[in-house]
Amino acid sequence: MKTPRIAVIGAGFGGLAAVIELKKRGFDSIVVFEKGDDVGGVWRENTYPGAACDVPSPFYSYSFELNPRWPHRFSRQPAILDYIRDVADKYDVRRHIRFGTEVVGASFDASTKTWTVELGTGETVEVDVLVTAVGQLSRPSFPAIAGADTFAGPSFHSAEWDHAVDLSGRKVAVIGTGASAVQFVPVIQPEVAHLDLFQRTPPYVIPRPDRKFSALHHRVFERVRATQLVERGTWYGLVELLSIAWVYSKPLAAAIKAISRAHMKRQTKARPGLFEKVWPTYAIGCKRILFSDNYLPALAQDNVDVITEGIREITPGGVVTTDGVHHDADVLIWGTGFKATEFLAPMMIRAGERDLAEQWSEGARAYYGMTVPHFPNLFIMYGPNTNTGGGSIIYFLEAQARYLGDYVEFLADSAGPLGVKPDVEEAYDQRIQSQLADSVWSQCSSWYRNSNGRVTTNWPALGLDYKKQATFRPEDYEVLPA
Ligand code: NAP
Repeated sequence: MKTPRIAVIGAGFGGLAAVIELKKRGFDSIVVFEKGDDVGGVWRENTYPGAACDVPSPFYSYSFELNPRWPHRFSRQPAILDYIRDVADKYDVRRHIRFGTEVVGASFDASTKTWTVELGTGETVEVDVLVTAVGQLSRPSFPAIAGADTFAGPSFHSAEWDHAVDLSGRKVAVIGTGASAVQFVPVIQPEVAHLDLFQRTPPYVIPRPDRKFSALHHRVFERVRATQLVERGTWYGLVELLSIAWVYSKPLAAAIKAISRAHMKRQTKARPGLFEKVWPTYAIGCKRILFSDNYLPALAQDNVDVITEGIREITPGGVVTTDGVHHDADVLIWGTGFKATEFLAPMMIRAGERDLAEQWSEGARAYYGMTVPHFPNLFIMYGPNTNTGGGSIIYFLEAQARYLGDYVEFLADSAGPLGVKPDVEEAYDQRIQSQLADSVWSQCSSWYRNSNGRVTTNWPALGLDYKKQATFRPEDYEVLPA
């Protein structure tokens, strides 16, 4: 199989990284299925007010495509989407993409050694290698709250923001206080009449050292590439410190907690009682810490109430909390996150009689998050246990793309399909799960863990460890009979 036919699902950062790497290595028989009408993935979908990245752009970007012209250090969503579009154009990825094309399932047939990809249109496409790049945070999660569908006014999820709804002068209820809500609440607070923020678990908030990059910065970054590398390297080091804190160093975690406490105290001073409401009690790092300088000041405004009682039900006119109080609302916004642990769902992925969802019934798992026993020639970008509690996903995606390139090159010279050896994957899984059991992420509930308590999203060590360890070793694989 000298020129494998390859299908990639998704044209976000992961899909693009995969395609660009494959093309660099001379593989061109690539089709990308993208359900949306443009590239960008979550950065196309999440357009809520204030949407931005809380990993600095010099590091939250491809190493092979540094951008000297970021408008800010912490880029806003439009700038990131523009960057992804430019990369897709520069590397000639678009000609491979079938936009508006959703994949509903795929099955591997051992007799023909091919994957049959089933599209939403009913059409099927045969390929040799299937690469999924659908992200971990692409399917909005709506908690099952009684009466949720009875709400009479407009209601929408942060990832499906309804820009047609005018919030000015309205009473708005926001459920959730994660990374998304922390970004949109301060932007909508000045325009709404009143905002009730329903907080189940508060986040730790730390300062966001943002800055607008001036024309001078841009000129220097453009002319002296070393300055870009220094900015990137500095942020790489700083975000790795977060992973060190969450995984290896309680004193470092305690220092970050002290920084957070001072920041949160200072920012809530204007409103007596607010600090006590928003100061978390769980181990820092267990849920994602959030970088923000404008979230807590917004909560300190007179038109905002932080409501910490649980939600009993939703009515046509608002939200009832467990203390029986009815909180009137004209608009309801769900800042309730994503179905992060349901990797690859709702696609049905099968190999012969095996169903991937069944194989993963205890929790999704894959060798370095990329390959799955009994599912030959299936490759996952940003798969199980490849999320980071601090760093840049793009760093991980590039490591995966390199692995994919090596994997496909080896496959091209092999006599048959390539499957990771079950015992190799088992030993790997035991190792990382025992590391995760000792990590901070096992100490509270979050989108990092599934309903069994297994940490299915996060990598248990540093980004650098992943880059070093996740290298393709032919001996980890078996070539299935041709
Ligand atoms: P999230 O972090 O999962 O937050 C969901 C929020 O909804 C939590 O506060 C959660 O409370 C709350 N919630 C869920 N069910 C609830 C219920 N039944 N009643 C009350 N509250 C409920 O989701 P997100 O804010 O969309 O962020 C998800 C991830 O997306 C982030 O962690 C991050 O990786 C990514 N993201 C990144 C950026 C960025 O700047 N790079 C920006 C936005 C998002 P509990 O904590 O109690 O469950």
